[in-house]
Amino acid sequence: MPLHTPDNFVSSHALPTVLPGAAFVFAFSDAKLLVRGTEDAPTVPTLEETRAAGVDGVRHYLGELAGVGCIAMVLPGDASAPAGFRFSGLRPLFFRLPEPLLAIAARASQVAEWDRTHRFCGRCGTPTRNRAEERAKECPACGYVAYPRLSPAMMALVIRGRELLLARANRFPQAMYSALAGFVEPGETIEDCVRREVKEEVGIDVDDITYFASQSWSFPHSLMIAYTARYAGGELRADGTEIADVRWFPADALPDRPQSLSIARYLIDTTAARLRGD
Ligand SMILES: [Zn+2]
Repeated sequence: MPLHTPDNFVSSHALPTVLPGAAFVFAFSDAKLLVRGTEDAPTVPTLEETRAAGVDGVRHYLGELAGVGCIAMVLPGDASAPAGFRFSGLRPLFFRLPEPLLAIAARASQVAEWDRTHRFCGRCGTPTRNRAEERAKECPACGYVAYPRLSPAMMALVIRGRELLLARANRFPQAMYSALAGFVEPGETIEDCVRREVKEEVGIDVDDITYFASQSWSFPHSLMIAYTARYAGGELRADGTEIADVRWFPADALPDRPQSLSIARYLIDTTAARLRGD
């Protein structure tokens, strides 16, 4: 399964008046999370531990994971980790941090990113303040309200008979191939975006665009919405800027692809299994 909200997580934004010392603290300095433990077995510190280490910052309540409170904490960009702690990007924590904690860390990183980038009103420049009744920042001067930002993006896996269309993006490691993806533009439906991006990136037309699944992706605040689509014509060619190479792969001979916590891998493997008749 790709990374998703744990079943035993209950979301909330209202910071309780008393927080137990056992609460998890997801403290970020820029996009880096404060962790304890070894490189191979990192852990998320508790409020008691961060308090003892003198770590504190702007707090946003996230909710409860299995009954334990979870806080996103925003530290200064130049914060240094106290003894016994270190800062880590989220990607190196994949497959190391327990998955429920990784999912909450991904959520926390988006809240922290929003806090960092909405300190001032985007309309008049006045310092904003957090609203008590919802996760929002408002401007005391002009009343402008800013919510956490989400950027919808489509992912499309194009199918032709028993073959899948996979592309190697310029930003990927050499051998890795994945489904096509791109951000939704203002005015577009997701289906419009699928047709446009596929045409722009690899030159072909698609139809039978079918919803598959979605995933929150914290780099920095995407909502990936995945589809399958059927090849409907046109000649395949990589655009040369975003896409370095694109090919049809038989469903039983797939290349290296993204890691298993990503919706891309889930989309490709599930669809390939269906085409193979597994
Ligand atoms: Zn304002």
